[in-house]
Amino acid sequence: MVGDTIAAVATPPGEGGIGIVRVSGPGARDVIKAVFRPRYGRGVDDWATHSLHLGTIIHPDDHRVIDEALVAWMVAPRTFTTEDIVEFHCHGGSVPVRETLGAVLRAGARLADPGEFTRRAFLGGRLDLAQAEAIIEVIRAKTRDGLGAAVSQLEGQLSRRIGKVRDDLLALLAHLEAMIDFPEEDLPDLGNDRIRSDLVKIQRQICDLLERSRTGRVLREGWRTVIVGRPNVGKSSLMNALLDEQRAIVTEIPGTTRDAIEEYIDLGGIPLRIVDTAGIRETEDVVERIGVEKTREYLEKADLALVVLDGSDSLMAEDETLLLSLAGRPAVVLVNKSDIAVRRLDEKRLHSLVGEMPIISVSAKEGWGLKELAELIRRMVYGEDGVGFSPDGGRLALVTQARHREALERADDLVRQALKAVDDGASPDFLTIDLKAAWEALGEITGDTVGEDILDKIFSSFCIGK
Ligand code: GDP
Ligand code: ZN
Repeated sequence: MVGDTIAAVATPPGEGGIGIVRVSGPGARDVIKAVFRPRYGRGVDDWATHSLHLGTIIHPDDHRVIDEALVAWMVAPRTFTTEDIVEFHCHGGSVPVRETLGAVLRAGARLADPGEFTRRAFLGGRLDLAQAEAIIEVIRAKTRDGLGAAVSQLEGQLSRRIGKVRDDLLALLAHLEAMIDFPEEDLPDLGNDRIRSDLVKIQRQICDLLERSRTGRVLREGWRTVIVGRPNVGKSSLMNALLDEQRAIVTEIPGTTRDAIEEYIDLGGIPLRIVDTAGIRETEDVVERIGVEKTREYLEKADLALVVLDGSDSLMAEDETLLLSLAGRPAVVLVNKSDIAVRRLDEKRLHSLVGEMPIISVSAKEGWGLKELAELIRRMVYGEDGVGFSPDGGRLALVTQARHREALERADDLVRQALKAVDDGASPDFLTIDLKAAWEALGEITGDTVGEDILDKIFSSFCIGK
């Protein structure tokens, strides 16, 4: 695996300012000698590590000039992959980049597999697995807050927390095993109470991380949001106003069903995944177009409902039915058309219907109230106490990945089981089985205990050249 020299195009296809071909491995130096003619000086053997050099890329067979380029040279082990790395920064067109890659392959490198550079960084101990996975999260981040969560994972915030829980588990395991091996010895007393309180502390740390996984999932995948309300209250107008409000439409992904697509909206850093039914693209009139039954289905799957009412009109039976059906679900009531002076909506009646749901007065036409909505959604995502959010940009350990969440859940179950065993007066060796398994489950997150098959699965989801 590690040993041979790999190469790939590191920049996206198409035209750009520069295009980069990246090479990693013990043969990187020879690749430079074969394909690069420096403008100044004698060549790579004279170069300092982490230096840039201007020159021409030539084909190793016929020495024809391919492109003028800057070459970045980085010597092992202080590089991304921990191996020698060279990057050819050529002009950003498909032909110069392809020809440069061809020359590099001809010089003895082989084409890298998807994610292979990052995999080498992991195998070389430069990153743990959670950090390696964070790289792809950084690249695919949908909003500023999503990026914050990914970068903090890349910096090792999550890994450190997981490491702490694993250390605590290991310390407890060591004690339990000493009790099993030397039952007659005078070990520092580790009675049931002490074991129990240690376990509770461990369990609390795991629970804390699991709580953050809700926020993490929202930042990574977006908050599934549905806009509902009877006809003409202003749902489409609101959708358009939200689209105007955001800084950029980040991406569009095909939905699960054939006739529905989802749209990402970046609302103040929080990605909302708004369900939009296909066909009439400018509207999202879920109620109108697909009927009450279907709306209920959408609502079942949604994380958040935005209920639009017309403030210039009285509350209708349809409004009331809708509000009542949403009781207990995460929803925000938007009283729209606040720019119209005439207010027919019965506020008292509304308050009695909505219970705990927050109410915001908005005007889709004028863009009023959208900032308040963004603020409110932010609070809903991070929780009133700001779980997983810090004022310096949310750089806290958040669990964003389903794989991590699943491992935490397994560890949580095992620790609970151990707690129950303590209460039932089970012997120490009985406990150690569960605790070892929990320790291993958590190790899957950082990659300390993980098989080749899982590594294959993770890195194959990367792009080539990463
Ligand atoms: P939908 O059927 O719920 O999607 O409602 P639309 O977005 O199509 O809006 C219905 C009508 O209400 C249109 O004529 C809009 O221009 C108007 N409308 C929507 N929002 C506002 C608003 O905030 N203020 C005013 N004055 N009119 C609005
Ligand atoms: Zn509409």
